[in-house]
Amino acid sequence: MMHWSLRRQSSWVQLAGHQGNFHLSDGGEVLKLYSEVEAACLDVLMKDPLRPFVPQYYGLVTRGELCYIRLEDLLNGLKRPVIMDCKMGVRTYQEEEVMKAQTRTLLRNDMYQKMVKVDPSALSPEEHAQMGVTKWRYLHWRDTTSSTSTLGFRIEGIMMEDGHIRRDFKNIVTLAQVTETLLFFTKKQLDVLKAYHSRLLALNDALKCSPFFRKHEVIGSSLLFVHDHSNKASVWMIDFGKTTPIPEISELKHNVPWTQGSREDGYLLGLTSLITSLSQAISK
Ligand code: ATP
Ligand code: MG
Ligand code: MG
Repeated sequence: MMHWSLRRQSSWVQLAGHQGNFHLSDGGEVLKLYSEVEAACLDVLMKDPLRPFVPQYYGLVTRGELCYIRLEDLLNGLKRPVIMDCKMGVRTYQEEEVMKAQTRTLLRNDMYQKMVKVDPSALSPEEHAQMGVTKWRYLHWRDTTSSTSTLGFRIEGIMMEDGHIRRDFKNIVTLAQVTETLLFFTKKQLDVLKAYHSRLLALNDALKCSPFFRKHEVIGSSLLFVHDHSNKASVWMIDFGKTTPIPEISELKHNVPWTQGSREDGYLLGLTSLITSLSQAISK
């Protein structure tokens, strides 16, 4: 379930994810609820060419009964930051969800309700009768009704400098709509658009020589775009909770469509779409 929250005491803002999963620590770090998968990724990323594109990872800390990963606060030092979370890849579900869906043992009423709210006609008579859908069915529907399937990413949310949060970008499907949204997000500031563009080109280069990227299926990970009134603008890779290593003998391309069993994520298709859209926004 998506939650949106705004911590008014500091500049820290959580654009996506479960609200209880995050804390700000005294040292200006972000504490995210521990996941073995994410911690394992961050360990490897700290020794990878992608390190400059990932929040610094400082290890684990226990608070009460719970364990957290300690991350650099990417909003530290920014005043009234403007933030955008783009979820990358041509799908946001792991292959194991497809397998689980085939047995249809677990039907989710909460996900059925979310679909009913947006588009009851998307559900079959059988699904209406069961009042439940598999997690895969729901995630796949979200992917195919947004730009995820077609452009390889989708905009999850944007927070403007006045703290106003928008999350109504899920039905964006064309590159032209993305470009319009980027112009809105940056208020057409050319230096901000150019800074984002060159940061993504640098990320593209780093991904090409990253052993981590070659060996990991990157699902549900986001690019976090951040700028403020001083027009410092940067982009970071975040959220590795569904990013998993692939078998030793294989490598992923990341720039081809997914077929079941290939584990391809289409991450580079999304990055190329974003770079193209930024170029279009710059030339407008
Ligand atoms: P989901 O899987 O639903 O996307 P999640 O619980 O895995 O969510 P993240 O996606 O990692 O959480 O982060 C949620 C939000 O928190 C991001 O959209 C961003 O706004 C904020 N955030 C996460 N990490 C950082 C960070 N290191 N610095 C600043 N903000 C962050
Ligand atoms: Mg996320
Ligand atoms: Mg996540």
